[in-house]
Amino acid sequence: MSRDFDVIIVGSGPGGSTAADVLTAAGRSVVIFERGRNHLIDLDDPNQLKYEYSNDEIKFWSRHFLGPDPWLEPRTFRLREEDGERIHVGEVNNLPATVGGGGVHADGKLPRFREDDFRMLTELGPVDGATVVDWPIGYDDLEPFYAEAEKAVGVAGEAGANPFAPWRSGPYPMPPGAPMYCAVVTSAAAERLGFHPYPAPTGCNSVPYDGRPACNNCGFCAYYGCPIHAKGDPVALLRRALLSGRAELRPDAFVKRIVVQNGRAEGVEWIDVAGETHVETAEHVVLAAGAMETPRLLLLSGMQHPMIGQNLMFHFQTLTFGHLPMRLHAHKGRAVTHTHDDHIIVDDAAKAAAREAGLPWIKGGLVEHGAAAHPLLESKLYPWGPEHKEMMRESPMRDHLVGFTMQGEDLPQATNRVDLDPEIRDIHGLPVARTTYHPHRHELAASAYYGPKLEAILAEAGATWARTTSSPRLEGDTIFGGLWKMGMIPASRHIVGTTRMGTDPATSVCDEWGRLHDVPNVVICDSSPFPTGAGYGPTLTLVALAIRNARALAS
Ligand SMILES: Cc1cc2nc3c(=O)[nH]c(=O)nc-3n(C[C@H](O)[C@H](O)[C@H](O)COP(=O)(O)OP(=O)(O)OC[C@H]3O[C@@H](n4cnc5c(N)ncnc54)[C@H](O)[C@@H]3O)c2cc1C
Ligand code: SF4
Repeated sequence: MSRDFDVIIVGSGPGGSTAADVLTAAGRSVVIFERGRNHLIDLDDPNQLKYEYSNDEIKFWSRHFLGPDPWLEPRTFRLREEDGERIHVGEVNNLPATVGGGGVHADGKLPRFREDDFRMLTELGPVDGATVVDWPIGYDDLEPFYAEAEKAVGVAGEAGANPFAPWRSGPYPMPPGAPMYCAVVTSAAAERLGFHPYPAPTGCNSVPYDGRPACNNCGFCAYYGCPIHAKGDPVALLRRALLSGRAELRPDAFVKRIVVQNGRAEGVEWIDVAGETHVETAEHVVLAAGAMETPRLLLLSGMQHPMIGQNLMFHFQTLTFGHLPMRLHAHKGRAVTHTHDDHIIVDDAAKAAAREAGLPWIKGGLVEHGAAAHPLLESKLYPWGPEHKEMMRESPMRDHLVGFTMQGEDLPQATNRVDLDPEIRDIHGLPVARTTYHPHRHELAASAYYGPKLEAILAEAGATWARTTSSPRLEGDTIFGGLWKMGMIPASRHIVGTTRMGTDPATSVCDEWGRLHDVPNVVICDSSPFPTGAGYGPTLTLVALAIRNARALAS
């Protein structure tokens, strides 16, 4: 039977765009289905980029310019099964639904995982109540693909600046960009206390690169598209794929089902912007819908593997804020220019703290040195009247607040999962993704141990006060007047797990090449196959995996 394309790709985020680039370079024809709108690239002339992003808080935060609109495409949430079917309907860890996916509004810290992140069980051992495992591949298998990913996306960084970084075969493609003043201040304080901050490897051009300009540090990076295309969003990969003449990109096209017959995917059913359903056929289907929507689509397609959706992980974020007396100008610059990794190392002191908490070990995560709120967000928090003007001038939030976000390792648990909500439907009438998530006590112990260390750095930097909270916020957290319920959904946009990879079809959904054990011509190219989450942002690792998986598929 003749098929329309060699490969159907679902999703145009970092994973799907990477797969499109690799497959078209290998001579395969692809069609990329993207449920969201296209604000990124001219489909008639892919040499031309669109200029529809801007430094506009209302457009991006309130009007859902990048989608999805949580009224039309909600998700549901509960902490545990005992909560009933759900305790929340609406926004749950949304990444944009737009051409480029989450890559468009990520501010792009793109570190590699460390060698021991791939063998957690061997290095650190099991933890009660968690499903800690080794990955079926190691860092050495992925290193060449990391190097390729950094080049393809465009990462600015300084090799050797981070003493805890894994080995690398070459330098970064670009030097680091200009540092933010607030991060210079907090980095100096961290160094005085014996920590090792370094310029964060970032997917923002520090110099003109790949036909796109250098970042001008406009300050609207995280949660906004880049108005000048200096960001390492998937634009470079998509542009190359489209220019090959072998890729077609279909925005506003929602894939509702993978059509499977006799253990093989034949194609997909998809819905156009007018609500009409169509069928497209191909030899293979690449799933890159993100770690929430990929398991949803597998379940909507009737796939039965009991582990689909299980082991959902975010990062447990320890958030330490403080007030510095000097003006920080932190609303300019890329949202984060410095990070430190010290709390990822499981040293003797961390082991002692773990023993006290009744755990075999605890592990933190990458700490991002950041600051800043934008003016409209800030203005909504201040009282009205003369005091409002005074506060806007003084700007305690925008110009004096500094913060650390520790992206703490979140242990995999079978009970944390994505499934289909039994009642709530999206605008297409399809069951939405329901998240069941509660942190393991490992995350709580790690946060309690590392929070005071972060506060000490702020005190050393001269902060007049420093406080620590977390996301998700916990029962008993009174920092926000006992309003913990408002923050019980993790704010993290680092979403992994849900289609675990492994060698044994009984304990994993896909193999090390992302192929579904049950339907091997479906290949996953996003962060859902990650067996464990690591304390680092997932995007560079998922792009490296997507290169590896797509190349294997092409051959
Ligand atoms: C503000 C912010 C900052 C971030 N910063 C970082 C960072 O510093 N470092 C880092 O590593 N990560 C960061 N992230 C996370 C990063 O954005 C994600 O890891 C990344 O986008 C995941 O890529 P993906 O291709 O797997 O999925 P996505 O980017 O989610 O792309 C999936 C695409 O598939 C589409 N899709 C889904 N279902 C369907 C369907 N049924 N039919 C058709 N299309 C579909 C979606 O619309 C979407 O465009 C950040 C995210 C945010 C929001
Ligand atoms: S800070 Fe730089 S990379 Fe980020 S949106 Fe502004 S210009 Fe683009």
